[in-house]
Amino acid sequence: MAKITLDNLAHSYLPKPAGPEDWALKELDNVWVDGEAYALLGASGCGKSTLLNIISGLVQPSQGRILFNDRDVTHAPTAERNIAQVFQFPVVYDTMTVRENLAFPLRNRGAPEDYVRARVQTIARMIDMEDRLERKARGLTADAKQKISLGRGMVREDVNAILFDEPLTVIDPHMKWELRTQLRALHHEFGHTMIYVTHDQTEALTFADKVVVMHDGRVVQIGTPQELFERPEHTFVGYFIGSPGMNLLDAQIDGDTARVGGHRIALGGQYDAVAGRTQIGVRPEYIRPANADSGGLPVTIRRVEDVGRHQILRAEFEGTGIDAILPEGAGVPADATHLAFDPAGINVYADDWRVAPRKVTAAPHREAV
Ligand code: ADP
Ligand code: MG
Repeated sequence: MAKITLDNLAHSYLPKPAGPEDWALKELDNVWVDGEAYALLGASGCGKSTLLNIISGLVQPSQGRILFNDRDVTHAPTAERNIAQVFQFPVVYDTMTVRENLAFPLRNRGAPEDYVRARVQTIARMIDMEDRLERKARGLTADAKQKISLGRGMVREDVNAILFDEPLTVIDPHMKWELRTQLRALHHEFGHTMIYVTHDQTEALTFADKVVVMHDGRVVQIGTPQELFERPEHTFVGYFIGSPGMNLLDAQIDGDTARVGGHRIALGGQYDAVAGRTQIGVRPEYIRPANADSGGLPVTIRRVEDVGRHQILRAEFEGTGIDAILPEGAGVPADATHLAFDPAGINVYADDWRVAPRKVTAAPHREAV
């Protein structure tokens, strides 16, 4: 197993990239800790597969280096990198049986037959295919074939890392949950470094210890689910993670106060002068309906939607939508004309990047939602 270091890495699929839009991956420097389970989360086209394929060696980066522990593998072929990769769509040998498919990576490395037999049995149980081991892969459903691909990715115990590229796309919803649980169990048992690519925040947040959020060819934040929730480093993280996502309002910042359209909103910290397009970001969990005496922002309340356990209040301030999540059973007071923000739940952004306060003055006290 290995720590993976990306050093000054960047990639363009074009022979002569010019502007930033020509780079599928913009400059990247980070370390993937040995034995950690990561989710790589971002919208379609942001560069997730490119990054994964560079780590496994399917794509040669235009710039920079990849290290496994201290070894530079930038130009090493895939086989030497000792990585298992599972793709979005099944890659199986149709003429082989399920057993032969699962055994392939082990036999390929000359593992003893009794070990192969036992290990294939364990994996077959994990992917729920013990009853079909002697069937040829040809003729199986896409769903079953993908489970074989997953099994093949997990069968070797001696890999440096296992990379999953949106592996559950063709799997039916119930089995998705089951397989994700199995992957987590496998991670606990063997402690492989795992990178799991997805565009689905629920998948990312339930699978990983650390979530790596990508946007437009960049890693914009690496953090625990709680860090991504409380301190989104980029407005994209605020918007992409959470349901609904973080609210953004144009503002001017003056010390510990934001001015939004002539109204003053208390912040949870002291800020130095902020340059660029300045906004405050507030998650719906930190907003409450309030009356005119609250000192909040005067809004037009549009509607209240029921979404399972809680309700979402949809409001509007000078043409900008603001969502608030109402705590269970709270409802909207009859005299509510304003929205009050919990100061500790407000982040300040300049040109989409979070600005840290010079001094924090309020601690978060989120009510249960
Ligand atoms: P994701 O996996 O996040 O959906 P990709 O890494 O596949 O994103 O793609 C990132 C960008 O690179 C996209 O703009 C995509 O069109 C482009 N791209 C991906 N693969 C190739 C390729 N083989 N040749 C040229 N452009 C590519
Ligand atoms: Mg992809």
